[in-house]
Amino acid sequence: VSDTIAAAVDEGRLWRRLDALACHGARADGGVDRPALSDAEAAAKRQLMDWGAELGLVAYTDALANLFLRWDVGADLPAVLVGSHVDSQPTGGRYDGTFGVLAGLEAIAALRTAGVRPQRPIEMVAWTNEEGSRFAPGMMGSAGYAGARGLAEILAVRDAQSISVAEAIAAQAARLPPLPRRALGRQVHCYIEPHIEQGPVLEAAGVALGVVTGMQGKRTFRVRLTGEAAHAGTAPRASRRDALLAAARAVLALEAGTADPDDIVRFTVGRLTVTPNAPSVVAAAAEFSIDLRHPDADMLHTLGNRVAGICADVAPPCTAEVEELSCAPPQVFDAGLRTALHRAAREVGVAALDIASAAGHDARYLEPICPTAMLFIPCRGGITHNPAEAIESAHAVAATRVLAVLLAAQTATALAAKTG
Ligand SMILES: [Zn+2]
Repeated sequence: VSDTIAAAVDEGRLWRRLDALACHGARADGGVDRPALSDAEAAAKRQLMDWGAELGLVAYTDALANLFLRWDVGADLPAVLVGSHVDSQPTGGRYDGTFGVLAGLEAIAALRTAGVRPQRPIEMVAWTNEEGSRFAPGMMGSAGYAGARGLAEILAVRDAQSISVAEAIAAQAARLPPLPRRALGRQVHCYIEPHIEQGPVLEAAGVALGVVTGMQGKRTFRVRLTGEAAHAGTAPRASRRDALLAAARAVLALEAGTADPDDIVRFTVGRLTVTPNAPSVVAAAAEFSIDLRHPDADMLHTLGNRVAGICADVAPPCTAEVEELSCAPPQVFDAGLRTALHRAAREVGVAALDIASAAGHDARYLEPICPTAMLFIPCRGGITHNPAEAIESAHAVAATRVLAVLLAAQTATALAAKTG
């Protein structure tokens, strides 16, 4: 059966659809600029709905404009969800998000061609505003679906043009055929998200498929050094309280204090603001951001808890204040699904490797509410959020074959699980 399903995955169709979807919000340089809830994203969704209709899938939405294409099999059971997102960064590539959505659609098409009769519904999903570049923060549709963020709070978020999420959802709905709305937070049997790796590991290892073990945790901080403004010509250096120098010492001390021989820790200071930010004034204050990530919860805890002490040690004669802004623990994806993915990969003859996700994905928010898994395919040079983003068709089709076999297994066991 696995061979029949795998053979029904149409490599040419998958590739043509990846190209076709990239036309919506296409950039002149070959990339994609498709903001969440934009007209370009509406056109991409409409295209998905048309392809879904050809397969007899039923389109519906919810209060956050997440798009679902449902293979209704008559059983009133929680669905297997498969998908990702179709919004992009302003300098986006063609495959971030869209690969997961189209792999899901192609896997459904293959199951139908192969004559598989699932015992529970399968739904392709495109989550709203994964990227967070129009409405911050990202992963809005999945976070709201899973109840990690409140609907009212999300709907009130505004973009740079002061357009609210609620207004943007209404504007996009006006560009699409009327869709039935279902409730947020419906029960999900399991969630599978295919995605490009957005890193160099799979390409270097020469394998087509990564079985994602989980997502690394992340803590973010704001550090403020306070000194005293002084004249750059007259103030003796020995008596200065230079906040920028204190910030520089702190950044270097933190960089050293979080370094690990295996290079697993991710430590980034991406923003530094100086007050008054004038060339001839000693800085009175300096503030910087910290983005700290690690796949191990204990390690992330230990490293994050070093931040305040390191800053206090090197701040004098300035003072340091450290504020933690967010703390997302590492996640481990469902062991049963990971085993099932490896089994499906073996059946289809696709080499697979366990890999941790270094980036955040919608799967982060599904993981607390249902068994969740991700599969990665390599992307050239690890380049992403960039028009140069590129994948191999052979990898895309191999992963989609594994996905289709996995979906068949997850839906075939439905009745057994229910009666047993
Ligand atoms: Zn993505």
